[in-house]
Amino acid sequence: MFLIEVIPFARLPRMLPDTFTYFSGDLIARGAVVEIEVRQRKLLGMVLSAAPVKDAKQHLRTASFILKKVGKIVSDIPILNTRDWAMLEWISGYYLTTPATVLRMLVPSFAVRGNTITTWERREEASERQLAKFMVFTGALAEKRYPQLVAEAINKMNQVLIIAPEISRAAGLLDQLSLALPREKLLMATSVEPAAQLHQYWRLIRRGEPAALIGSRLPLFFPFVNLGLVILDDDGAPSHKSWDQEPRYHAREIALKLHELYGGTLCFSGNPPSLAAYQMAGIDEKAALVETPRETPPPVSLFVEMDKEIKESGNFVTISQVLKDKLRSTLIDRGRAFLFVNRRGFAPFILCQDCGYVFRCDQCSVPLVYHAQESFLHPTLLCHHCSAKNPAPDVCRQCGSHRLKSYGIGVERVAKEVKKFFPGTPLITISADEAKRPADIKKLSDRLTKLESYIAVGTEMAISGARLPPVELAAIISVDTALALPDYAQNERLFRILSLIRAIALKHFIFQSYAKEPEILRDLFHGSFEHFAEKELKERRKFSYPPFGELVKLTVQSSAREAALKSAKELHRSVTFMATRLAADSLEISPPYPAYIEKKKGQFIFHILVKILKPEKSMEVKELLNQYVPGNIRIDVGPMALL
Ligand SMILES: [Zn+2]
Ligand SMILES: [Zn+2]
Repeated sequence: MFLIEVIPFARLPRMLPDTFTYFSGDLIARGAVVEIEVRQRKLLGMVLSAAPVKDAKQHLRTASFILKKVGKIVSDIPILNTRDWAMLEWISGYYLTTPATVLRMLVPSFAVRGNTITTWERREEASERQLAKFMVFTGALAEKRYPQLVAEAINKMNQVLIIAPEISRAAGLLDQLSLALPREKLLMATSVEPAAQLHQYWRLIRRGEPAALIGSRLPLFFPFVNLGLVILDDDGAPSHKSWDQEPRYHAREIALKLHELYGGTLCFSGNPPSLAAYQMAGIDEKAALVETPRETPPPVSLFVEMDKEIKESGNFVTISQVLKDKLRSTLIDRGRAFLFVNRRGFAPFILCQDCGYVFRCDQCSVPLVYHAQESFLHPTLLCHHCSAKNPAPDVCRQCGSHRLKSYGIGVERVAKEVKKFFPGTPLITISADEAKRPADIKKLSDRLTKLESYIAVGTEMAISGARLPPVELAAIISVDTALALPDYAQNERLFRILSLIRAIALKHFIFQSYAKEPEILRDLFHGSFEHFAEKELKERRKFSYPPFGELVKLTVQSSAREAALKSAKELHRSVTFMATRLAADSLEISPPYPAYIEKKKGQFIFHILVKILKPEKSMEVKELLNQYVPGNIRIDVGPMALL
């Protein structure tokens, strides 16, 4: 008699477990497809493990309930191969997630479409691991190297994987590659593609077809056979991390694992690349750091202290005199300009000038953002965290005063100023309000390419999603709040955004700030990524931050603040006790701290940060966390931010 653990392919209601145990008279191979019954429903599932009853865990052998017999074997050909199993085990161990969650990524719903699973051919064991080569591309024109690399790999009958941070960026790369390669060798696999198309590509890749698979994160889990080249484009982009659903993986880490399993060439590319990639290139003897400098000379860069501007004009200003002058001369020469603002809407908050009341979201501990009518039909107060929407008020909620004033700078406010100073000039705003879907971004970029001269105002979306074409003048209107956030990775994020903006500036780059000149500007203005990286890495090494140590963020939430804090304290006690099973210098545990936005969507949030000081202890610590952290606690390995 055997106990058979099965993972159903279908998504089941949350309260059900994600693996089920059945018995069987025969041994069934791991990876076989069987029929199972869950709550009177017949489902297909994959066998995760099979073991004789005598070896089964105590609780199963003595279980008071009666195990059901497994249904018929639909296919005894294992659907995963050795490398797939290695990936499944690694992801579930590294990111502390269940094998079922990983299986749904390795065999996604579009793959099992129409129950064709029974006709799948055996998953070939991939050929020998290829000779490994690792490169980090840096510089403005890094992507110009892709077509040749991809063509070489495909000519050698290899498969290629290209991961872009955004779907719109993936589409742009596909256009570039199609100049150098036959279109049928380029397969676009993103979540906006029809399921039938994804299904077809999935089968092609599974059969070993030499082709380049392009997308953002989704294709990382396709069933490769001869994976000879992996390119991670703009590897420092935050969207490479799956931050909002399990498993909370990072594309860079999955790419590294693929490289370990398949060999071949791995390229991390960015302008600048991530500090993690830079660090890896530095310590790996076989690695190469390849710089592709820009073709045009760097722009003339200028820092503008806005405090002085305000003193001189006696008013709060968003666009400095020097920037106004440069905009004017750019437009006279029929040039283009881009103004960067790191906030959507008109102003980050509204304040009553009589009693000091600030309009806040009822469900989240943040001020509501004021959106003028540009992005909505009426002036609106919007919560950027729970999307709660209210008409903008005329009077103060607390004292009834009419003297309400909006504070701070958002995209819409800058656009309004531009309209006032440069009436008649084509103006385009680019933020999440204008570009909700990848198709909107495409429309915006098409409009931009048609215009000879314009002013664009936008958030990070304009550079990382829309990939704004080069402009004569690029300016940072304000990033002051971003500068002040206390987070170990903040400098890296800021340096990346500023570098991307400066990279599209052909003639002038202007940085306005209401704070003092940040140190980061010296490296930025002189284009010295290496200097910045070395300095930053030195700091991180001192405090064992990534890439030297590893972070695991545990998150507790509850609709009552006391309850959230209480369970955070309990969790802290239990993790501290767990740590006594390890050498004292292997990890650090922070006390519970409230999230930066303490209340979100009605839930109070507390975090505990576990810092694994020695990378070699990583798996051991995670095994223990798996035992000591209850299932309702969110675990984020390699969190994007600590706050
Ligand atoms: Zn008031
Ligand atoms: Zn809210």
